[in-house]
Amino acid sequence: MKKIIRFLIIPLLIAYIISSYTYTVMADIIAPIYMFLISVVLYLQSRKIQNLRIVWRILALAMLSWGVADLLWAYFAIVTNLDPNEMDLFIYLYLITDILLLINASIYFVKNISKWNRLQLLLDITVIMVISFALGSAVFFSKIDFSEILLADFVATVVYLTFDILMLIIIVTMVASSRYKKIKIAIKYMMIGYIIYVLADLFYIDSYYSMTYIPNSISDIIFMIAFLVFALSAVKATSNPVDDYDNTETTPLNFGKSKILWWVFVVPIGLYLMGRLSISYLTAILFTLVIYQVMSHYVQKLLMTETLYVKEHEIKMTLERTIEKRTEELLLSQKELEKRAITDSLTHLFNRDYFIESLNNRLKENKPFSIAYLDLDRFKIINDLHGHPMGDLVLVEVSRRFSKQLGMDYDIFRVGGDEFAIIISGNATKNLEDVSRKIIDVMKVPIALEGFQFTIDASIGFARYPNDALTVSDLVKNADIAMYHAKANGAMTKHVVFSSQLIEQLERRNHIEILLKNADFKTDFELYYQPQFDAKSLEIIGMEALIRWFHKEEGFISPAEFIPIAEEIGLILEINEFVFAEAMLQIKRWNSVYNKQLIMSVNLSPLTLNSVDFYLNLKDLLEITGVTPDYLEFEITEHSAMNSSNIMEDVFRQIKELGFYISIDDFGTGYSSLSYLKRFNVDTLKIARELIANIELQEDEMQIVKAIIMMSEALGLKIIAEGVETKEQLNILNDLKCHVIQGYYLAKPMTADDLEEQFLKKGSKN
Ligand code: C2E
Ligand code: CA
Repeated sequence: MKKIIRFLIIPLLIAYIISSYTYTVMADIIAPIYMFLISVVLYLQSRKIQNLRIVWRILALAMLSWGVADLLWAYFAIVTNLDPNEMDLFIYLYLITDILLLINASIYFVKNISKWNRLQLLLDITVIMVISFALGSAVFFSKIDFSEILLADFVATVVYLTFDILMLIIIVTMVASSRYKKIKIAIKYMMIGYIIYVLADLFYIDSYYSMTYIPNSISDIIFMIAFLVFALSAVKATSNPVDDYDNTETTPLNFGKSKILWWVFVVPIGLYLMGRLSISYLTAILFTLVIYQVMSHYVQKLLMTETLYVKEHEIKMTLERTIEKRTEELLLSQKELEKRAITDSLTHLFNRDYFIESLNNRLKENKPFSIAYLDLDRFKIINDLHGHPMGDLVLVEVSRRFSKQLGMDYDIFRVGGDEFAIIISGNATKNLEDVSRKIIDVMKVPIALEGFQFTIDASIGFARYPNDALTVSDLVKNADIAMYHAKANGAMTKHVVFSSQLIEQLERRNHIEILLKNADFKTDFELYYQPQFDAKSLEIIGMEALIRWFHKEEGFISPAEFIPIAEEIGLILEINEFVFAEAMLQIKRWNSVYNKQLIMSVNLSPLTLNSVDFYLNLKDLLEITGVTPDYLEFEITEHSAMNSSNIMEDVFRQIKELGFYISIDDFGTGYSSLSYLKRFNVDTLKIARELIANIELQEDEMQIVKAIIMMSEALGLKIIAEGVETKEQLNILNDLKCHVIQGYYLAKPMTADDLEEQFLKKGSKN
């Protein structure tokens, strides 16, 4: 494009200027060619321009229309020998260019004026228009002899003038108001083109009316220069296509340069000095400008206020957004806090506080509901033996299972270390049993953690509203009582629904607890011995030591009743010491006095095994009593054996190393996993009384006992049948090749003296 301009357009312009003074026909021919070239340049450039392409297209069209007019001019001047200067046609033809240029300037103007400055712009335009028309009418119309010119000519001239002045206004306003920080170089070129064009036009009109116009003279040359500048502006617009155009003035804080308009005054002064403007016109224009500046001042103030308002609004919005965000964050952390306040951090179940709150809410609703209070059995052992981290893991796993099994229908709470609570809508027995069954189901599966297997039972107590209590504290207390009974019942019943009898039982339990705490073992307790016999020969081979408590006021209190309480309150260790020492001394004496190899069985509570001192105590006892350890056998229930841990295994191993025997008590009532038989290096199995009781009545019970005996045989274990009460049972056990018999049928638990009297002194009962 630059080449076209440099090698075609500029030489043509020079040729035109030269020929316009020498050979005007030549100038007439050059002009349209020149114009077509300009419009081609503009059109081709416009295709490369992204922003405001329309402006450049219209500019090209304007140039084309001028070219067409020039072509017709040349045709009439050269071919027809008519004087185009005399033809009205050309007044209209060239007017097309004027109109197109005005449209163009308006489009650009409208698209680029930010709404913030409209008021000021309106003011700018008005003042420039007023001054321009004043000048126009003063300078031009004053010397027109209206009788001499045609109406058509006059109308066209007014239109020309109006358009020219409007264009000038737009350009001047844009520079004066300068709402754009930077006007792109291409646009500056275009503006210059406009100014040159308008000047040429005014010059032409002036000379036209003063009858001094000569075609292809100075005014036409100026037109041609204006068009060249348009072509250059188009080239500039594409030389940097990325920012070919800039209208990025967005902040309202741009007040323009209204002071610049003072310079407009230069024109009337000049005209006045040239004698073409009267003093009254000059004064009027000055007056207009003063008013303009005053008004402008206020408009600027208004703008400033509005700008400040906008700024303030923006700041307020930012502030509001910040506050909103902060509030959101606060709400979130508030929610988090609330959640934390009602959940248990370890298990993520609801916590005790929320349990109480929920109960209070339920009471307000006044609809029947129930609570389940749930305590894990022997959980303390896991904590003591494996440490709290392991205990925590078990709690987490148990909670996970509860949530999975019950979480959909019920709210589950962790209300204490290993205590949980569930709120159940309604209080139908069926519902409670359903909950209980689900819990038991879930607990059946052993929990495998870090190489250990834990079988944990839960004891459940139910209390119903309004049946069992009317206040939150009573409800919780009663559910707790029911739970306590479930626990005391051991493996038999895992859930108990509260009833008023439970309170009596609880009172009894508390009573016994007090009695136990005040008891003096040496005097209040006594050991009874239940003999054990060889199944075939019915010769005594040993005995089980069973503790007896004859209270001065209460009378006989069963070990089945007080041993669990003693375990619970930690007194069992003292009881053990008493039992062990007594039993050891007894068997030592009997075996030496009667020259026997009898074996004394002593019951061990699992809690005893957890005590580290147990082993040392035993060693001490062996030394003090001087008894041979192979006279003694420790009985441990199947259930506690199964839940035993590594430490317990160690203790078992140490007991064995000391030379004692180990027997599994109540075998067949638990889950009867056989793996521990090998693990603990057990010597004896005691078949549970429950199994023996029905052996002669129920075939399958008999089959179970038979299987146990066969298996023990294979493992090389000694078998003792417990609770043998009839001759039939004895016979069946004999047939099944059971080794040892213990039970009321042959002998009840009795004092040492009685046993000695009945079974040792005479050698044998039979
Ligand atoms: P256990 O170890 O199962 O003891 C056997 C229980 O069955 C004894 O009840 C005994 O009297 C009873 N028994 C024996 N033969 C028969 C029979 O033919 N029919 C019936 N119905 N019962 C029979 P006891 O003495 O009341 O003891 C109850 C439980 O108390 C014992 O159950 C044992 O777990 C615990 N226990 C007793 N003495 C001690 C002790 O010194 N230390 C510990 N840790 N626990 C003890
Ligand atoms: Ca026993």
